[in-house]
Amino acid sequence: MDRATERKLVQAARRVRANAHAPVSGIHVGAALLGASSRIYAGCNVESSVLQTICAERTALGQAISRGEHEFTAVAVVTEFDPPWAPCGICRQVLSDFGLALEVIMAGPSGPVRTRTTVGELLPMTVQDTDLLAAAQRAGREARAGGASGGGS
Ligand code: ZN
Repeated sequence: MDRATERKLVQAARRVRANAHAPVSGIHVGAALLGASSRIYAGCNVESSVLQTICAERTALGQAISRGEHEFTAVAVVTEFDPPWAPCGICRQVLSDFGLALEVIMAGPSGPVRTRTTVGELLPMTVQDTDLLAAAQRAGREARAGGASGGGS
């Protein structure tokens, strides 16, 4: 990914972070996914009062999937911390479904990117490497291809 694209991705994550709903933790997180189409999908964390949180990464993923994007090359995650927080275990596992090579960029609310890594580096020895998951993904793609109806733009 070129630096201009990385800058746009991080800016999208920084912008959406302002929309976080974090009444419990007060921690605002923004994430932005770069789709294979070059579109960017941003999402913020959404907490509830009983600690059931949808992280920014999964909110961004929901935005992307809802718009029909299923392949991604990178995700930017912005937190207020230094060094910036990495995606949680649940998000690492969910993101791994879209490829261990998915680039993960971590940054603070301003300044340069602090960390560049991949989902595979954050989640070593994952089930992604088994034939079972590959078969499940093939079946899922076939189901999506065969059953695609409705959906928005
Ligand atoms: Zn998470």
